[in-house]
Amino acid sequence: MDLIKPLQSLKVRIMLIKVCGLSEESEITELANSGIDMLGFIFHKASRRNLNYDEAKGAFIRNLACEKVGVFVNEEFDYILQTGFYFSLTHVQLHGNESPGMVQALSRYFKVIKAFSIHSKFDFRVCDLYPSADLLLFDTKGDLAGGNGTQFDWKLLDSYQGDIPFLLSGGIGKNDVKAIKEMNHPFFEGIDVNSKFEIEPSRKNIPEIKTFMEELNKSISKTRKGYYGEFGGAYIPELLYNPVQELETAFERIKTNEEFKSKFKHLLRDYVGRPTPLYFSNKLSEKHDATIFLKREDLNHTGAHKINNTIGQILLAKEMGKTNIIAETGAGQHGVATATVCALMGLDCTVFMGTVDMERQKPNVQRMKMLGAKVVPAESGSKTLKDATNEAIRYWINNPSTFYVIGSVVGPHPYPEMVAHFQSVISEEMRFQLQEKTQKMNPDIIVACVGGGSNAAGAFYHYLEEDAVALYCVEAAGLGIDSGKSAATSHLGTVGIIHGSKSLVMQTDNGQIIEPHSISAGLDYPGIGPLHAHLIKSGRAKSIAVTDAEAIKAGLDLTRIEGIIPALESAHALAALDKIELKNKTVVVNLSGRGDKDLETYLTKLNLAENEIE
Ligand SMILES: *Cc1c(COP(=O)(O)O)cnc(C)c1O
Repeated sequence: MDLIKPLQSLKVRIMLIKVCGLSEESEITELANSGIDMLGFIFHKASRRNLNYDEAKGAFIRNLACEKVGVFVNEEFDYILQTGFYFSLTHVQLHGNESPGMVQALSRYFKVIKAFSIHSKFDFRVCDLYPSADLLLFDTKGDLAGGNGTQFDWKLLDSYQGDIPFLLSGGIGKNDVKAIKEMNHPFFEGIDVNSKFEIEPSRKNIPEIKTFMEELNKSISKTRKGYYGEFGGAYIPELLYNPVQELETAFERIKTNEEFKSKFKHLLRDYVGRPTPLYFSNKLSEKHDATIFLKREDLNHTGAHKINNTIGQILLAKEMGKTNIIAETGAGQHGVATATVCALMGLDCTVFMGTVDMERQKPNVQRMKMLGAKVVPAESGSKTLKDATNEAIRYWINNPSTFYVIGSVVGPHPYPEMVAHFQSVISEEMRFQLQEKTQKMNPDIIVACVGGGSNAAGAFYHYLEEDAVALYCVEAAGLGIDSGKSAATSHLGTVGIIHGSKSLVMQTDNGQIIEPHSISAGLDYPGIGPLHAHLIKSGRAKSIAVTDAEAIKAGLDLTRIEGIIPALESAHALAALDKIELKNKTVVVNLSGRGDKDLETYLTKLNLAENEIE
């Protein structure tokens, strides 16, 4: 059983679209305004599409808002430099036999795309000689320099083992949408189209290009790197550009690496105790007249799903040669999971935690200290998860060589994608467990609580494209959605930036964060991951809000009927069962964690309730 599949099913796809060989002003303007990422201009005298430029045209191209690529074939360095500056090019594309030294020299001034002509005997190791290239472009070997209109066999790309992203080029036309969608090379960055959309050399069929783009966007929900619909991205201070870039490259590398996958799988099985059971709850099923399963993430080592992700990220940190680990924590589960794996791997660990959370999750603070981690109190704001995250990011900016292990599907790209990737083991297991127990591949309904959204992302992951599976995100409504003391972000939030990504955020009209409230520390967060913002906004997932009191009651109920004390976070998911039409449905509730850490809160409420009865 392959525990980790490539991320295709999340459709987190990099799809740059470049149109090459343009010269007509009206066409260029129209394309630049239609969301195209890159326009290519050919500066090659032998090409039929050579750009005839004059002063007016120069000014016109300089002012275009999109990325501007100049295509050159075996030109002199000075000519490329002058042309590049004259037209304010963002990229130069080198289509001849330019040397690695030439690429390196030009990379000081422009982003460089090195093109290669692919044929069955092409040795992809040549690409390794061009580490300064920002992108590669794989084109068909033809008689002319580009724009031959023929395709090479895309299967050849399996032999490309390098880590520079590439554009696919050569004879791409409107009938290739399906094949492009199926491209799953980890470094496939986008496509370059040219002659198949031409009326005549250098005159493009604009309506056809637009239809083609629409078709691509329909099948690929994301057109920009790290975005889910309009949400996501990496909104980070300049000091973090390098560490984030480095992380992204390292993550791309391990995603499909067999040795890494095998280490990860091994630890999940022998150290964490996976697969976690899919438990059929007779009592809940009878109560709701449905078939209800609990996915027992509470049975993981350290008591919650968090460790799936910390094992993945810390293995990656080791690959990258990092020795200092930092993390933020709310309920303390992520802090404990991070401290645990750091102890296992002999790394230094510092955990940031709000002082309010340190008080209400005391057992977890003690566990982290016992494991050898340093716990740093966050005293600002509401002294909860958001403030701990702020402190962690601040520390990271000052110490960019540390590895920041984020605990949920939040933060700048690639974190949301990476955390979902490591948590996807949950639904991977659900699939075969459900089939074993019910002979059905898919449940009708999956319910999971959402703080940032990592346990939900893991439980939904392999069902995202199965439209028949209804997905429910359960948020904390605190004292009530409109009480002013709530953390129901998808109900109350508006589009904003939080902790490096664009998502839904609880904020005032001036963009000040509204302090959230939930009885459960793990859900007490004023944001939500960009994936979930997109799933909810697009209607793929529904969101339900559950109050503190409803969650406590559902947690106590499960304890008494099944002998399972759920984490307060997971109790929110259980309480949502009363708010969904479940009759005759097959339902999986992701029981994200166990309730030991919440005993004091539960007992206080239990005593209150029993005193009232007396
Ligand atoms: C942290 C935590 C959550 C909330 O985080 P998500 O990223 O939304 O999963 C939920 N349940 C438990 C037990 C947790 O520890």
